[in-house]
Amino acid sequence: MTAYDDQNVFAKILRGEIPCTRVYEDKYVLAFEDTNPQAPVHVLIIPKGEYVSMTDFTELATDAEIVALNRAILNVADIKGLKGSGYRILANSGADSHQEVPHLHVHVFGGRVLGPLLSE
Ligand code: AMP
Repeated sequence: MTAYDDQNVFAKILRGEIPCTRVYEDKYVLAFEDTNPQAPVHVLIIPKGEYVSMTDFTELATDAEIVALNRAILNVADIKGLKGSGYRILANSGADSHQEVPHLHVHVFGGRVLGPLLSE
């Protein structure tokens, strides 16, 4: 397991050290707009706990944290009007996935027909 680096950009967002455009928040998660959107809707959902990736989240998070992250997907889809049209969720995890920020984040994409899953 990779050690958690509390200087990563999403840790700074959680501490309020840098701004974000908040979409949804509860006790366990924060959802905010991606600053480099890849679709008309592109939201990131992060747990408030210190988890590097989906690997250690699913190994170590409490049931309440895991449920909250999943329910947040539904809440974001609802807030963004995607429940009818559909959406894609994606969580890069580790080096091969090209995960750039070492704090677990779930991407929520929508607002257009998204096409095939992988580009390469
Ligand atoms: P990944 O490649 O899965 O690690 O995705 C990282 C995502 O974080 C990218 O889509 C970036 O555009 C996004 N990102 C990086 N910094 C910020 C920030 N300060 N606020 C919002 N999104 C960010």
